[in-house]
Amino acid sequence: MKLANYVYGQWVEGGGEGIALLDPVNGEHLVSVSSEGVDVGRALSFARDSGGTALRALGYEARAGLLGKIAEVLTANRDAYYDISLRNSGSTAGDIAFDVDGAIFTLKAYARAGKALGDARLLKEGGRVALAKTDAFQGQHFLTPLSGVAVFINAFNFPAWGLWEKAAPALLAGVPVLVKPATPTAWLTQRMVADVVAAGILPPGALNIVCGSARDLLDHVGECDVVSFTGSADTAARIRTHPAVVARAVRVNVEADSVNSAILGPDAQPGSAEFDLAVKEIVRELTVKAGQKCTAIRRIFAPAAVARALADAVAARLAGMTVGNPRSEGVRVGPLVSKAQQAAAFEGLARLRQDAELVFGGGEGFVPVDADPAVSAFVQPTLLFCDKGLAAQHVHDVEVFGPVATVLPYADTAEVIALARRGGGSLVASVYSADAGFLAELVPGIAELHGRVMVVDAAIGGQHTGHGNVMPTCLHGGPGRAGGGEELGGLRALAMYHRRYVVQGGPGLLDALSAGAADAALLGA
Ligand code: NAP
Repeated sequence: MKLANYVYGQWVEGGGEGIALLDPVNGEHLVSVSSEGVDVGRALSFARDSGGTALRALGYEARAGLLGKIAEVLTANRDAYYDISLRNSGSTAGDIAFDVDGAIFTLKAYARAGKALGDARLLKEGGRVALAKTDAFQGQHFLTPLSGVAVFINAFNFPAWGLWEKAAPALLAGVPVLVKPATPTAWLTQRMVADVVAAGILPPGALNIVCGSARDLLDHVGECDVVSFTGSADTAARIRTHPAVVARAVRVNVEADSVNSAILGPDAQPGSAEFDLAVKEIVRELTVKAGQKCTAIRRIFAPAAVARALADAVAARLAGMTVGNPRSEGVRVGPLVSKAQQAAAFEGLARLRQDAELVFGGGEGFVPVDADPAVSAFVQPTLLFCDKGLAAQHVHDVEVFGPVATVLPYADTAEVIALARRGGGSLVASVYSADAGFLAELVPGIAELHGRVMVVDAAIGGQHTGHGNVMPTCLHGGPGRAGGGEELGGLRALAMYHRRYVVQGGPGLLDALSAGAADAALLGA
């Protein structure tokens, strides 16, 4: 079966044989995708003219209602998504929940939050700016929804959440969506789009999908479009420097790779609640989605006196994890999504091992449960130990996109700040400590280079939302090598799909233009 593309209000099958999507456990050919022959320029025009116009004819609250209906449709079809995720991504039930249920949760969060903006069609920002000695001439800032398309070029690891965490704020803002999912796992994204299209919730042109190669997609983006990319730093660089993107100053948001940290404070001694919470979270981060999360912990910093004990505790937990075919009883960790990802992970691991010694895993002699190593894409959960600190050549630079992390000892607060910052910009750091003095120095010391800092102590215990869990109400994104993007953060995410301008004129005109506008301060509320 070849999955069709949904463009210009029609299902269009791409030409040629297409690209095969495989089961990463047994190598079975599941479906194919092709974008050959799809007129992406026409698809974008149709989305702008038809989808965008119809969406913006509604107010924010009405569009929030559409998000609620999408969430209902996805909930009704959840079983089918679980089946596709198991077959195409080799996901365990827990991994699928992270993606599919995370997508539905995020849509519902925006459906709720969007109501606060009421029936408005635009946002008014701040008060009147005095520009003359009298009130005769003033300024008023506005945020207006973009009349272009939100183009999503997505990564393979979140085929469900990756679409809807971006689409929820875009659609709420009144901007139509064209998604190009990553090819290896495009099936789930395509199926979700098909279900929402079949339900007739959105106006024609509001939701579009092109599966397979992006082809000339970026040649057709314009000054009112937004390109939101999630994937590798190399592809991000290509997108940012694409001639059409540069010439038309197209807004680009990038979520790229990241060597995220977990940091144990000086008080996180073996036997303390903070130590145990750190061990639990590190093991979860290594094993959920087989480490294929952009937010996953890659580097673990611990006081020199406890680093070995920490590594041993994590290794002991990893030894109890069953890795293999998610269809088998008791399996907790599945494969990577493809042989190509497995090969990339092995290559990255070899580089890390130039800096670090093996504590657990590594792959030698490893046999996955109920799967043929020759055709499957498993990587054994692996823990490394590196005592080279800032002198390490690869640990701070190589993101192995799989179940691999490295423990590094640190001597003092200044050193651990420098180590965390050496990641060059990360999505998230989690800190396990109740030491107020340490936290007062550490958090401001690293926050500039992290989109999110999660601090956990005994009082919070198990109530935290997780190092790797992206909450729709909190910012997701990170500076530097993490891409510099910003997503989510509640209604703040709508800013990317609006344009700010100021009108200078008389108070009567500004009153008329402001009538019915919602307060932009609500975006940060
Ligand atoms: P990738 O190779 O960069 O691919 C990402 C997307 O870009 C895919 O849809 C891909 O399509 C497309 N693409 C590739 N070349 C393109 C081009 N020249 N023009 C337009 N589109 C192009 O990344 P990946 O290996 O799939 O994803 C893994 C990476 O994503 C990891 O490094 C991870 O850290 C990062 N990630 C980051 C986040 C975050 O939120 N920060 C989340 C998830 C993943 P095809 O699949 O058809 O090649």
